[in-house]
Amino acid sequence: MNTKDQVAKGLMLPVMEAFYTIQGEGKYTGHPAYFIRLGGCDVGCVWCDVKESWEAAKWPVLSIEQIVEEALSHPGRLVVITGGEPLMYDLGPLTRLLKEKGFTTNIETSGAHPFSGDFDWVCFSPKKFKKPHPSIYEVANELKVVVFHKSDFDFAEEHAALVNESCELRLQPEWSKANRFLPNIIEYSKNHPNWKISLQTHKFMDIP
Ligand code: SF4
Repeated sequence: MNTKDQVAKGLMLPVMEAFYTIQGEGKYTGHPAYFIRLGGCDVGCVWCDVKESWEAAKWPVLSIEQIVEEALSHPGRLVVITGGEPLMYDLGPLTRLLKEKGFTTNIETSGAHPFSGDFDWVCFSPKKFKKPHPSIYEVANELKVVVFHKSDFDFAEEHAALVNESCELRLQPEWSKANRFLPNIIEYSKNHPNWKISLQTHKFMDIP
């Protein structure tokens, strides 16, 4: 099987970077975690802080065995698969192997592609720039909406109406606009207590 076919089957994946750090956002804030950032994204957020991830062809394509072996070299057993947009790939084989080796598997996704993979926690962060695929609403454990503009509160509610009942709701200020929007987010959450606040605490800690 050539590399292209292996990528199509999720047996090899383009990895932009992988690193052991502390999860800074959302439900697992503060947990040591190994991040696997896959290359490739077709969502096109204007404020994206990992634009270099967009072009998948720039990044080395690794076998899932290589990816998992590297993850095993760190003491933590929480893995976060992110991107880029990780659901551009079939994540079934990688997540099954990670779970076989004892990892808890989390994903951070815009939901713009059909859902795949065996995940313990699905963080769905929809973007206005590409509509989510309907498969994400049933499996999302957490809806995390990045607030960059005042219209994002309406956008957040549109998606909150579509996710499953047990999905946790979080609003997170976009880092460069945090000073401007944090007071509005605090007021919004106090008035709509089904929403919690997520902050990019890794940026305060100055870690990746
Ligand atoms: S989905 Fe994520 S990686 Fe893709 S453009 Fe938006 S912020 Fe960047």
